[in-house]
Amino acid sequence: MKNITVVGSGTMGSGIAHCFAQYGFNVNLVDLSQEALKRAMVKIEANLDRQLKKEILSLEEKAAALARIRPMTVLEEAVQKADLVVEAVSENQAVKAKIFAQLDKHAPTECILATNTSSLSITTIAAFTKRPEKVIGMHFMNPVPVMRLVEIIKGYQTNETTLSAITALTTQIEKVPLVAADYPGFVANRILLPMINEAIEALFQGVAGVEAIDEMMKLGMGHPMGPLRLADFIGLDVCLSVLEVLHQGFGKDKYAPCPLLRNLVTAGNLGVKTKCGFYDYSDNPKQPTPLKF
Ligand code: NAD
Repeated sequence: MKNITVVGSGTMGSGIAHCFAQYGFNVNLVDLSQEALKRAMVKIEANLDRQLKKEILSLEEKAAALARIRPMTVLEEAVQKADLVVEAVSENQAVKAKIFAQLDKHAPTECILATNTSSLSITTIAAFTKRPEKVIGMHFMNPVPVMRLVEIIKGYQTNETTLSAITALTTQIEKVPLVAADYPGFVANRILLPMINEAIEALFQGVAGVEAIDEMMKLGMGHPMGPLRLADFIGLDVCLSVLEVLHQGFGKDKYAPCPLLRNLVTAGNLGVKTKCGFYDYSDNPKQPTPLKF
């Protein structure tokens, strides 16, 4: 593989483009507007600078990585020569379905189509194409340039050739591919989100406050970040949507999102990105103030 197209240049897409460019791939980075692409390029450069400071990259390598990324707004043009497309647009089934139908129409027949979805069914997304055997989940973790795991999800019709090409590619960019079957939440979020939901439930029932819950999980379980702080970092809207996929997909009450989480999302308190969730980030984002509930 040489040419990779990344669709969506937000939190995840910008990180995915960065990693592929760092390891020598030509990357077409696609978004709806020039403004979104400009923001993504600024972020990529800042993250490359961080790697430069840590001596992970040289100045020449940084410049070469940046030069390999081509920001584009026309999807049809961006996928013309792609060997692989990684889709990282918003977590919305209808939006992804439309994009996959378009990708199927315009990308070369041999091109593999991957999605970075956190929870949606790979098999359903693949059904919007005429090449379901070449559709696969490539679930990168946030922040992409730092986190080594890529959860690889095999859809019902994904074939072995596609699976082995994608696991080999993941190793090539020095990440660790671990394979999961296509069931709601796959593995990582199926385990993580119920833990976060339980922490919110404990807070909701007044068992302990925000800070106590987070400190207990840090000091007692060795977690680098407490579950409520992590929920703020992921985005409370994202947490809610993954829990809804788990709840609907398995039909079990144990996955029902806590009412407090629903209220916070409805109120627009989505965590770090809105400066308010379980913590207030407006004064000092690095040392936010735990809120009372
Ligand atoms: P984001 O909102 O930061 O970025 C999404 C980008 O997609 C935006 O820039 C938006 O303009 C663009 N977009 C929307 N529709 C488009 C279209 N039709 N064509 C081109 N671009 C389009 O979202 P994100 O957090 O980067 O999440 C992207 C995907 O990655 C989601 O499926 C999410 O579930 C998954 N994911 C997110 C995280 C996380 O921690 N944020 C972690 C793992 C996986």
